[in-house]
Amino acid sequence: HAKNGGRNACRVFKCGMNELIEKRRILEADLEIALQRGEFELYLQPRVDAASASIIGYEGLLRWFHPKRGMISPGDFIPVAEASGKIIKLGEWVLAEACRLLQQVDGRISVNVSSLQFRHSDFVTNLAELLQRTGADPRRLELEITESVLIDDDKRAVQILNDLKEMGLDIALDDFGTGYSSLSYLSRYPFDTIKIDRSFVSNLGLAENAQVIVRTIIDLGAGLGMKIVAEGVEHIEEALFLAQSGCHELQGYLLGKPLKVDEVAREVDPAIATRLRNMPRRLPEF
Ligand code: C2E
Ligand code: MG
Ligand code: MG
Ligand code: MG
Repeated sequence: HAKNGGRNACRVFKCGMNELIEKRRILEADLEIALQRGEFELYLQPRVDAASASIIGYEGLLRWFHPKRGMISPGDFIPVAEASGKIIKLGEWVLAEACRLLQQVDGRISVNVSSLQFRHSDFVTNLAELLQRTGADPRRLELEITESVLIDDDKRAVQILNDLKEMGLDIALDDFGTGYSSLSYLSRYPFDTIKIDRSFVSNLGLAENAQVIVRTIIDLGAGLGMKIVAEGVEHIEEALFLAQSGCHELQGYLLGKPLKVDEVAREVDPAIATRLRNMPRRLPEF
């Protein structure tokens, strides 16, 4: 308790830290065998065209079904996998699984690529080889990266992005608007897609400036020829506002939860689809 003075608080804090470190150490050891045991699953979440309300693809989201601890979210194990370097193998598995799942769904699949994986010297070569081996169509694959990939070694990042685009893949900038995202990124890097972070979407009904920010991101990205996707759409009002504002794609629990391939939605709830299709569009600013 902090009340008991600095020394106790410090001890409690240290104990908490040790527990955290211990938990991470166990997770890290388990990660090693989890891949061999097939404990991972790539869930899919629908990405929906805002105008037609049809599902045009899916985002792959990793889940770990731990034999003792049940389902673990990527937020809990991705940082561990990154810190231990295991993200390289895990990321390769994710890409291979996405290629396999492309045979079971229509449309495209996007996958998240961590910055360590992206910068790994064999990333582009391995990916090219995977595509060749599986015969997957690169135009049906999109890679989602965050700005953390871009912060240093700008030239190398541009080189990798260009190589990937030359192979036919699309690149999305994920979680746009969080962190340090600079507007200059949008002209400096060849993104096809911008994903508006869900924090902006969930603020739409609460703060009026969130509406201004979201519309500005849409106009900016669309004006630069990019596809704009909104993440974390949970309420019909959010979906309607985004559609009306010219956002191209919607993703979120309202339209479909992340689920395994045989359970994931193949179409949007008709009541929601009808409301989306009937929504008048605002004239674009550009
Ligand atoms: P992300 O790529 O931004 O993915 C979106 C996250 O929002 C996912 O969390 C998704 O389940 C969640 N989400 C989707 N719709 C809604 C909604 O309507 N409301 C709310 N509250 N949340 C929603 P998830 O699956 O826990 O993944 C978290 C993050 O972990 C991802 O954020 C991504 O950065 C990372 N991640 C997931 N899978 C992978 C992977 O295969 N490789 C790497 N490197 N990272 C991954
Ligand atoms: Mg993502
Ligand atoms: Mg995302
Ligand atoms: Mg995101």
